[in-house]
Amino acid sequence: AKGLGGARHQVFDPAMRDRVTTRLQLETDLRWAIVRQEFFIQYQPIVALESGRICGFEALVRWQHPRRGLVSPDRFIPIAEETGSILPLGRWILDTSIAQLHAWQQQFSQDPPLTLNVNLSGKQLFETDLILELDRILARYPIVPGTLKLEITETVLMENAASVETLLEQFRARQIQVCIDDFGTGYSSLSYLRRFPIDTLKIDRSFVASMGIDRENSEIVRAIVMLSHNLNIDVTAEGVESEEQLVQLWALQCEYAQGYFFSKPLDADRATEFIASGPQW
Ligand code: C2E
Ligand code: CA
Ligand code: CA
Ligand code: CA
Repeated sequence: AKGLGGARHQVFDPAMRDRVTTRLQLETDLRWAIVRQEFFIQYQPIVALESGRICGFEALVRWQHPRRGLVSPDRFIPIAEETGSILPLGRWILDTSIAQLHAWQQQFSQDPPLTLNVNLSGKQLFETDLILELDRILARYPIVPGTLKLEITETVLMENAASVETLLEQFRARQIQVCIDDFGTGYSSLSYLRRFPIDTLKIDRSFVASMGIDRENSEIVRAIVMLSHNLNIDVTAEGVESEEQLVQLWALQCEYAQGYFFSKPLDADRATEFIASGPQW
């Protein structure tokens, strides 16, 4: 490690020092942000393509920082994961969004009932008693069984393949659905699609974005949809921004779509208005 100090000195320019200071400050601020009630959740509609009706929402966390304004989850979730703040934060997200789903299901008795997707980080899966926590929340907010979907990225799944199996069985026993997020960007070993009880697969928006522009990406999307259907897995396309993408996905018989074409993520009360607004296309 000789000479490392010198090398470090060279790359440690002022811009990097600023980044490090900012990061350290975000770390500290994150620890207080829950009690200070700086987080809130937005809900992005997910539409069933066949009927054009909303089937549910994905919960997306937001941090309103007192000085920095809105901080992106792409920025603070990785820090929260590294520092362990993701554990209390993750519990708060589950609790708050499931309470909201329960309220919506009471208000709108649609058939099939509204669903909720919640993102889980790897840390949450393996470092807390997640099942106990979920049981506690579900006892408090008795949502319709089968309407909670937990999103896990394929990287998290593959890196923990051995321990994840038991966990997924425990989800199944509670009729909690499992959704693979960002499909196609990570490890992508297709064998796990057969091995694990997976209900839905979410095609990453990078593939959806270039459908129609790039023939190869359209073919990838087609192949993913066909493979999923052969394995009895539903498909959600994320990042749908144009009617052209929508029409292609519809032709492929993709079940669900989500993206700015329908709506950006919405505050809870705007999301409630969205439910009341009827079919989307
Ligand atoms: P993700 O789970 O892949 O979430 C989808 C992201 O795509 C969201 O960004 C959403 O706002 C954005 N998006 C939706 N439709 C479109 C579209 O049509 N075009 C484009 N360009 N983007 C679209 P967001 O909310 O900034 O979240 C970023 C990431 O942060 C999420 O990616 C997820 O990995 C993480 N994240 C967000 N909320 C949570 C949470 O509650 N818990 C955990 N563990 N992670 C979260
Ligand atoms: Ca997601
Ligand atoms: Ca995603
Ligand atoms: Ca993503």
